[in-house]
Amino acid sequence: MVLPIVHYNDPVLRKKGARVTAFDAALARLATEMTASMHAAEGIGLAAQQVGRALQLCLADLRSVKKEFAWALDGARPPLELIMPLVLVNPAVTLLPSDETVYEEGCLSFPGIRGDVARPDAVRVTYQDLQGGPHVLLCSGMFARCLQHEADHLNGVLFIDRMAKKVRAGLDDDLKALAKATREKAPA
Ligand code: ZN
Repeated sequence: MVLPIVHYNDPVLRKKGARVTAFDAALARLATEMTASMHAAEGIGLAAQQVGRALQLCLADLRSVKKEFAWALDGARPPLELIMPLVLVNPAVTLLPSDETVYEEGCLSFPGIRGDVARPDAVRVTYQDLQGGPHVLLCSGMFARCLQHEADHLNGVLFIDRMAKKVRAGLDDDLKALAKATREKAPA
């Protein structure tokens, strides 16, 4: 089943996700359904909040991105095809000392809206897989950017919060229109 993706300014997008404690079939099913939603929307990442669930669970699939990034998973460098789509449960992102890069980001919860966001180039992410197994991932470039964007979602932080004031101001009308459309679509 493809789960519908909620749009800004749905309140669930501002909720901090609860820590996942049950590594069960329901969690695996949710991850599978989120993966289908992400692929159907042609996204490279998706957080549980974006399907209306405030949980520490997100996904990434960088296979369609030009591989100008590096990664190491548990000290090895497995082929991207083997680790994607990557499901991250209870992820914790540590920013590594690195140059900031600026990129025009988009978000599946903000259709048609893009804006420059500066982020550090490299991160260390600890997370659990769907069986609860712990992992350590080091990555850079678009991989690191994607995981920072998704981990922000899990804490109720959105990419518009990371934009420079001027960039954010330039999107103001579009954001107001999107918030209004979301409000009007919401069940009373
Ligand atoms: Zn997003």
